[in-house]
Amino acid sequence: MATIGAIVGACKQHLPELDRSDLLGATIVVASAPLVAGLGLYARRASLPLAKVPFTPRSHKLVFVHEYSMALSEAGFRAIRFTSWAAGTLLDRNSSDQLLVQGIFDDILSAASWGLGGISPDDVKSYKWEIITVRDAAPGAFACASGKVVITTGMLRLLRDRPGCIAHVIAHEVAHVLARHVSEKIAHMAAGNLAVLTAMVLADSASAADRNGVPYWEGSSDLARFAKYLPKVVGFIGLNALQRPHSRRAEWEADMAGLKLMALAGYDPADAAQAFRYMDEAHSTWETGDGWLPKALSLGSTHPRTLGRVEALEAEAEAMAAAGPEGLGRVCSQPPGYWGLM
Ligand SMILES: [Zn+2]
Repeated sequence: MATIGAIVGACKQHLPELDRSDLLGATIVVASAPLVAGLGLYARRASLPLAKVPFTPRSHKLVFVHEYSMALSEAGFRAIRFTSWAAGTLLDRNSSDQLLVQGIFDDILSAASWGLGGISPDDVKSYKWEIITVRDAAPGAFACASGKVVITTGMLRLLRDRPGCIAHVIAHEVAHVLARHVSEKIAHMAAGNLAVLTAMVLADSASAADRNGVPYWEGSSDLARFAKYLPKVVGFIGLNALQRPHSRRAEWEADMAGLKLMALAGYDPADAAQAFRYMDEAHSTWETGDGWLPKALSLGSTHPRTLGRVEALEAEAEAMAAAGPEGLGRVCSQPPGYWGLM
């Protein structure tokens, strides 16, 4: 309280035109930042279960029960499978595309159960693994926390039906699941939302505390104008700081762990970078249109630039090729070369 008093005192001295409500509102909103930071610190320090990111030295704490994310995403997956089935776009189990995808998926999962890269075979068994193929011209692939993976025929065509390229896309999704990236993202989003909510609630109470009935942000001073936008600023910074690095990092991790999984499963690791080249090609062809692709593959703020990802994959694939089959296990157990840069 002494600090808040000192801030108010200093502001009064330098900005004598400010009234009491301006200062109170601004101070309360500013004071919410340490509260949010404190909550974040508590989540980090508390003894929560750890999720190990395969093939990297990183682990993260599961702020929410993993089963919660599993149940949520399982419900989402069932809805997608049902609507695809009802629309007639869910590929039959015996269709050639689904057979191809299923075979690759099984190969990746069996490589994941070998216990390399810090993956626990028991952990692999704990998921409800399933892969479905949906007939859709738009290339896409995603994974649910529970181990369900969805891939579109558009993605298979974009990758020229090349098994190695499809293997990296599927292994990338399996890596997201094993790294518990979905649970991590839910926790980060919740923290970001909490930051915005706290700032909003505090700003509201500051407004209600005004004796004249005039909200504090309707003052004419610079500080009052600043305070008006503060909740938005806090929210923007909070969401970006929490989500952006997480998403970028999660994509790097899934790329690299996926590369190792597909290589262990017997696919050519050079096909991982090739998959990105096909996506880049499609991106530059579609860039000027208004189709889904510029949006999906613009790899905006939350995605690392494709070029950087291709280079990292190429460097790692070269190290694997240099190590030969007998050195593959060793290369896969080491943190990737780019890791020191993160
Ligand atoms: Zn991804």
